[in-house]
Amino acid sequence: MDLHGGNFIGGTVTKAGAKTFRGSDPTIGKELDPAFHEATETEVHHALTAAAGAFPRYRQQAPENVARFLEAIAAEIEALGDGLIARAKAETALPEARLTGERGRTCSQLRMFAELAREGSWVDARIDRALPDRKPLPRPDLRRMLVPLGPIAVFGASNFPLAFSVCGGDTASALAAGNTVVVKGHPAHPGTSEMAATAVLKAASATGMPDGVFSMVHGTSPAVGLALVRHHETRAVAFTGSLQGGRALFDAAAARPVPIPVFAEMGSVNPVFILPGALAAKTADIAQAYVQSVTMGVGQFCTNPGLAVGLASPELEAFVVETSQRIAQAPIGTMLHAGIAANYRAALEAWQRIAGLRVAGRAPGDAGETQAGAVVFETDSRQFLADARLREELFGPSTLVVACETAERLYEVARQLEGQLTVTLHATPEDLAAHAPLVEILREKAGRLVLNGFPTGVEVSPAMQHGGPYPATTDPRFTSVGTAAIFRFVRPVCYQGFPASALPPELQDGNPRKVWRLVNGERTRD
Ligand code: NAP
Repeated sequence: MDLHGGNFIGGTVTKAGAKTFRGSDPTIGKELDPAFHEATETEVHHALTAAAGAFPRYRQQAPENVARFLEAIAAEIEALGDGLIARAKAETALPEARLTGERGRTCSQLRMFAELAREGSWVDARIDRALPDRKPLPRPDLRRMLVPLGPIAVFGASNFPLAFSVCGGDTASALAAGNTVVVKGHPAHPGTSEMAATAVLKAASATGMPDGVFSMVHGTSPAVGLALVRHHETRAVAFTGSLQGGRALFDAAAARPVPIPVFAEMGSVNPVFILPGALAAKTADIAQAYVQSVTMGVGQFCTNPGLAVGLASPELEAFVVETSQRIAQAPIGTMLHAGIAANYRAALEAWQRIAGLRVAGRAPGDAGETQAGAVVFETDSRQFLADARLREELFGPSTLVVACETAERLYEVARQLEGQLTVTLHATPEDLAAHAPLVEILREKAGRLVLNGFPTGVEVSPAMQHGGPYPATTDPRFTSVGTAAIFRFVRPVCYQGFPASALPPELQDGNPRKVWRLVNGERTRD
C-alpha cells in the first residue's frame, strides 16, 4: 500500500510540520521511503480535541458495536497481508516468522478484548439494595460499576511493532473499555505504524464509530510525547520502553495542574534463581534453555533474563562453563534500531570496565553498527551487593551469573533486587522446602513468579500478570497483558438512589445484559 507519511487525526491525514524523518532498515542501514512528518503541537491538540469530542458518543456505543469494531480492526490487519510483514521486517530486522506470530497475537488480542466487551462482566457491577427499615439508619440503594476515563495516550513500543504498538494490547484494552485513543507511533517503525493506523480507521468507518475515536501522531523528539501527556484532554497514558522515557512521562503527568495516571512498563532484569537440587539434576538442560531465553529476539524482550543467581558450588561452575560455551556459539543478531544497539554497546563497555567483573563467555565476531553479540558475565554476591550498576537492566542479549557463598547471601541478593516483571526459580520440591524464605522475599519483588521455566514468552490470557513493582512499572497494581489490562483505563462510579430508568443496563434490576454482578454480597447473573 502507498504510505502517506502524515499524521492521522480524526480521520484525516495532515502534514502541518516541516520536520520529517524516515524509517530505516537496520540490517543494511538504508533509509526507507516515504518521509514522515513529525506532528506539531497544534496537530497533537487537534488529535486530542477530536478524541475528547468522540468520547461521549463512543462510550455510549452498545457493547456489541465495540466488539464488532475491535473484530473489524483484526480483520483489517489480516487484510494488509504480506505487505505489513514486509514493511515491519524492513523497519525492525525482526524475522518474518516472529512478525507473523506477532500479527497473530495482535489479532487474537483484539478479538479477546472484543469478547470481553461483548460479555460485559468486566464492569464489575455491584448492587447493595436499599434497606429502608434498617435501624438505626436506613441504607440507600447503591449501585457501582466501572466506566471509561476518556482519551488515552498510547506510546507504541519499539520491540513489538505490532502487538505493543499502534493497535496492540494498550489500544485494544482502552478501546474495549469505551475510551478513545491517540497513539504516538514509535519512530523506529513509522511505516508499520501507518499501516496499522489505516486498519483501525477503516474498521472505525465500516462499523460506524465516531470520527476521532482513534488518531495517530508521529514524533522523533520528546516534545511530541510530552505534548500528548500534558494536554488537558488526556486522561491516562500507556507506555512501554525505557526507564528514562517512562519516568519522564510519569513526572510530566504528575506535574500537570490535573495529574493523570501513567501506566509505564519499563526496565526489568528478570532474575533466575537456580537452587542446588534443580541445578545438580539438570545443569546442562537449564543452561541450554537459559541461553535460548537470553538470546531470543537478540535479547530485546522486557522479560529477558539478565541475571542468574545460585549457591557457589562445582555445579554452578559447570553451569557457567556450559552457558559460556553456548553463548560463544550464539549467532550475532541485528537489533531493532541503531539507538538500541548503541545503548547496548555502551552498557557492555561500561560493564567491562568494572574491576572484578569477569566476562565468562561471548559471541565471537565484530559486530556492525546495529549488530549485537551475546555476553555472559560472572561475579560473586559480595560485588553484586556492593555495586548498584550490576542490578540495573542491560537491554540486549547479555546476562550475569552471581555465585553466593551462603544461603543467607542468596537471600540478601534477593532482598536487594529492585521491582521486576518476573522472577524465576529453578527448584525441586526439596529446594523449595529448604529455601522457603526465598519464595517469600521474591513474591514482594515481582508481578510473575515462574517455577522451572523461563520468563520470555508472555501468554495473553485472563490470569496473566505483566507488571511489577517500580521500576518494572509505575503502578504494580495493573497488568499490560491479558484481559485484566482493561482495568488501567476505567474508574468506578456509584449511583445512589437512582431509578432503574436512569441507570446503565448493567445496574438495572432485570440485569438485561446478563452480566455477573455482586448483588447484596452474592455473585449472580440473575
Ligand atoms: P524509549 O527511548 O523509551 O522510547 C519509547 C517512546 O517514548 C518513544 O516514542 C519515545 O519518543 C518516547 N520517549 C522517550 N523518552 C521520552 C521523553 N523523555 N519524553 C517524551 N517522550 C519520550 O524506548 P526505545 O526507543 O524503544 O528504546 C530505547 C531503550 O528502551 C532501549 O535501549 C531499552 O533499554 C528500553 N526498552 C525497554 C523495553 C521494555 O520492554 N522494558 C522495550 C523497548 C525498549 P521519541 O523517540 O520521539 O523520543
